[in-house]
Amino acid sequence: MGTEKCARGWDLANFLPLLAALLAQYWAAAHPTAVEAYWSSAYPLIDLCLSTLALLLPVSPTEVCLLLLILGICWLLARGFRSRHLGPLRLVWRGVCRSALLCGLLALWFLAGWGLNYRRPPITQRWHLAVEQVDETRVRKLAAEAVLLANTGPITEPSEPWDLAQDASRLASLVRSVCHQMDGPPPLLSVAVRIPVAWRLLEWLGIDGLTSPFFHEVLLNPQQGSRVRNAVLAHELAHACGYAREDAASLVGLLACKRSPNPADRYAYALFVMMHLWKVPLADGRKALEHLAPGPRRDLEAEWARLKARRSPLTRAQSALNDFYLRSAGDPHGTDSYSRVIILLAAHRHCPSLRRDR
Ligand SMILES: [Zn+2]
Repeated sequence: MGTEKCARGWDLANFLPLLAALLAQYWAAAHPTAVEAYWSSAYPLIDLCLSTLALLLPVSPTEVCLLLLILGICWLLARGFRSRHLGPLRLVWRGVCRSALLCGLLALWFLAGWGLNYRRPPITQRWHLAVEQVDETRVRKLAAEAVLLANTGPITEPSEPWDLAQDASRLASLVRSVCHQMDGPPPLLSVAVRIPVAWRLLEWLGIDGLTSPFFHEVLLNPQQGSRVRNAVLAHELAHACGYAREDAASLVGLLACKRSPNPADRYAYALFVMMHLWKVPLADGRKALEHLAPGPRRDLEAEWARLKARRSPLTRAQSALNDFYLRSAGDPHGTDSYSRVIILLAAHRHCPSLRRDR
């Protein structure tokens, strides 16, 4: 009897990390100022450790851990089904306990390593962006500026294969500069940027890039449009810098691209803006496109065609899951947050302290 009680106690202990992660989420949501202090003090140290590990390893630690996790779960399932001394109910209960332990530990690692950044004070508040004053005229001005930039953009083909190391180094330094100007000294951002071995999985899921919250490494899909890929890269580097929310990461990444001395970065900024402009109710995107030169128009249409061609039940499921993830992480806009960057950029153009980017 005593042994059984003890076993039940151990079973319940499996839920403690999950409970701690939930409490940490609630605490962080109520204390954004403390989370901002975490970003400026603890996060750079965590970033240094995790990204150094990712840089030292020849393969992506995220991919390796994912593979080990899948193998470990299969092994545990096989072992559970083979054990004859446990009844089916006890077996299911044990599975639930082990899953709760695993999810709890992963959630704690996620929060401490990066996820708490979702609970920083909103970028509109930190940067004093008057989003409520953004109207159709301001968005149209932003669109006209993007069209002008695209029309003077590069007519040469981007380098193939992708010179990832050079682009990542230049854009990381620009992202750091935006971050430093607006939020103070950024994390070290010695981030590992690589194309994963299983990159086809990213393509099937409709993902162009992602930042691993567990190792602060940026993983990119090499099949993405070569004209906008630097904007995607800058967006991911902003994530690694501690801008967790999608609109904030896009804002920092796009400002970095716009400031870049490299014409391909500025062109990527312009195309990225025009693609998202389409989805903002305030903006008459079609009107802005009437002034596009044939070259950028072809590039924009090619990018739309690429995105349309890869649409599938799998990409839709990924998008729905992403929406759920973003909302549960504290972003009330979910996947609409990606296009909300247009409103932030329009507000940013009229921010008196930020004339440099106009
Ligand atoms: Zn993102």
